[in-house]
Amino acid sequence: MLDGVTPRIGVLALQGDVREHMHALAACGAEPVAVRRESELASVDGLVIPGGESTAISKLLDIFELLEPLRQRLRDGMPAYGSCAGMILLASEVLDTRPDMHTLNGIDMTVRRNAFGRQVDSFETDLEFAGLDDGPVRAVFIRAPWVERAGADVEVLARVPSGPAAGTVVAVRQGNVMATSFHPEVTGDLRVHRLFVETLVRPRAGV
Ligand code: GLN
Repeated sequence: MLDGVTPRIGVLALQGDVREHMHALAACGAEPVAVRRESELASVDGLVIPGGESTAISKLLDIFELLEPLRQRLRDGMPAYGSCAGMILLASEVLDTRPDMHTLNGIDMTVRRNAFGRQVDSFETDLEFAGLDDGPVRAVFIRAPWVERAGADVEVLARVPSGPAAGTVVAVRQGNVMATSFHPEVTGDLRVHRLFVETLVRPRAGV
C-alpha cells in the first residue's frame, strides 16, 4: 500500500449493476466515482465496467460520447476491470453479438456472448483464481460470456472447474486490464476487487 494514496476508481455508470461495484470498491478502500462524462473518466485512476447488457452499454458509449475517450485511456494504460458485459466490451473480438457493437480492445481475446447456453444460462460454482490463494472464489454467472481465444500475452486467471463447460476460461488479465465472466460484486467476497485495486490500480494511482 502506498501511504496516503486513495485511488479514485470509476465505475462506468451508463447501465448495469453500477451500485454493487461502487460498494465493493469503497469497501476495498478506494474512492468510487460514477463515470458518465469524459471529465469524470479523465479524473479516475482506474475503471470498472459492470455487468449489464453489452450492446446497450455499447450504444450508450456513443450517446455519451465516451467511446473514443475510453479507448484512448485504455491505450494510455489506464487499469480496467470488466465483469460479464464489461468483459465483453473489453474484448478485441466478440462472437454472437450485433455487428454494430463497439469493442474497446483492452484485452487480446475473443469472447462469446451468452456462451453457456439455455440449460446453464445462470449458475454458480467455486473456482480457483490465480493470485487468490486463500480458498476458491464463489463465481456467479448470469447469461455470461466465455473466453474462446486468449492471445499470447493474456494470462488465464480462472477456468470453470467441472460440469459441461469444464476448462472454459472465465477470468483473464493482460497488463493492467482484467476481466471476469462472473459477478464477484454480488457475493460479498471482495478479493477480486481487492486484487484489482491493490495490484493493478494502486501502484499507478496519482501517476
Ligand atoms: N448477456 C449480457 C450481455 O451480452 C451480459 C450479462 C451480464 O452482464 N450479466 O451483455
